Amino acid sequence: MKDRIKFLILLMGLQLSSLQAEILIENITLIDAKNEIRNAQSVYIKNGVIQSIKDSETSDLDGAELDSKLIDGTGKYLIPGLWDAHVHLTFIPEIDHETHFDLYLKNGVTSIRDTGAIISKLRPSLNFIKENPNTTPRLFYAGPLIDGADRVYKGLEPGFPNLSIGIDENSNIPGVVDGLIAEGVTFLKSYEMLTRDTYLELLKVASQNGLRVTGHVPLSIDLEEAIEAGLGGMQHVRNMDLACAKDAEVLLDERQISLENEDEIAGSALRTHIHSSQRYYAIDNTDDERCLRIIKKLSEYGVFQTPTLTINTFDSRRFYADPEWRETYSELPKAAKEDWMNGSLKLAEFDATEDALKFDAWSLMLVEKMHAEGVKIIAGTDTPIGYLTPGYSLHKELELLSEAGLSNLEVLKSATITPAEFFGIEDQMGTIEVGKLADLVILNDNPLESISNTQNIHKVIAKGKIQ
Ligand SMILES: [Zn+2]
Repeated sequence: MKDRIKFLILLMGLQLSSLQAEILIENITLIDAKNEIRNAQSVYIKNGVIQSIKDSETSDLDGAELDSKLIDGTGKYLIPGLWDAHVHLTFIPEIDHETHFDLYLKNGVTSIRDTGAIISKLRPSLNFIKENPNTTPRLFYAGPLIDGADRVYKGLEPGFPNLSIGIDENSNIPGVVDGLIAEGVTFLKSYEMLTRDTYLELLKVASQNGLRVTGHVPLSIDLEEAIEAGLGGMQHVRNMDLACAKDAEVLLDERQISLENEDEIAGSALRTHIHSSQRYYAIDNTDDERCLRIIKKLSEYGVFQTPTLTINTFDSRRFYADPEWRETYSELPKAAKEDWMNGSLKLAEFDATEDALKFDAWSLMLVEKMHAEGVKIIAGTDTPIGYLTPGYSLHKELELLSEAGLSNLEVLKSATITPAEFFGIEDQMGTIEVGKLADLVILNDNPLESISNTQNIHKVIAKGKIQ
């Protein structure tokens, strides 16, 4: 699997090579989450790859380097290109892929991981990237949410676009996985209505194919069993609420009865009903010892966590109530902009509820505990859900991760090396080193002093090209 992704990325690089201008960034400070801070460096880029890194003061540049396009990095900071590892390109059709891509790149997000879209709807985005390799971010995608026969996102109600496929024990799971691999997916996203047996089978088939399964752990299975069975990643710190409750087994039994669904409720309504009946009870009845045991297990098994604090705090932080945040809507297509403005202003009339504030504090506390136990944290947002403008929202996520207790360097790690590690391509991406892909962001201020400085962008280089 690793090799296949590497091949795909290499292919992307080769397609670009003949078109690439050479770039030399001089006298800049390099900051990544692996190496020591390196001051006054010259970074030479060609064919989409970092070719050399030299001391600006002592080294002589060779002819090729002198021919390249020069960027004066004096007083500036170079970081690896950022990732938003939880986006949905097709969630709001009024926000087209071109807008998504432009906003990511403008904000220094050079790689994105789409965590749920049916392939036919994603196809135009994939074609657009193929046709415009120099002006688009790298896109890694799971394809559809893999849900149970009773799907949550099936496009029948507002707010629930068709993002999923449904499988059960009778499905040809190896056939489904093969089909997705043929469509170029590089990981899988599971969803909540899968039955325990189907989910365990999916994990097995995915593992045989070298694919990580991330996502919402199905409501039908105990989280610890899922971790031991090879769960690759989690989103939104979801499932931790239910699994950490002092009577988690009772809650699981109750869910299993609800999931039999004798009243034949729609999947989306049933899912919502289960969460609203269990979440806050579970949070109020957390067993700290049990929770720590689960967190240690996540760490031990190398399960990646993408907390998406921006969406978890959607109705407590209420970014949409901030006029400055709403200014970012002006970069959206007209229909989306109007819709977001109206929706935001309506929501802004209400205060945060007690439950929202509780969930906010709980989410941040959990991230802090996970981080302390060495769980791998990945930055992701869930944009464009929750009036979270693509690109801009990633920087909100970085601020929230910092607030949750990660150091600024650790926050950078969550948006650079760790997502690359999820795909096993950390030898090609995520740090500033010779031979690595040239996805880089030049900042005017030091991100180690304040993580908000990632928003003060001088230039973005994606796939070896200045954007
Ligand atoms: Zn999502």
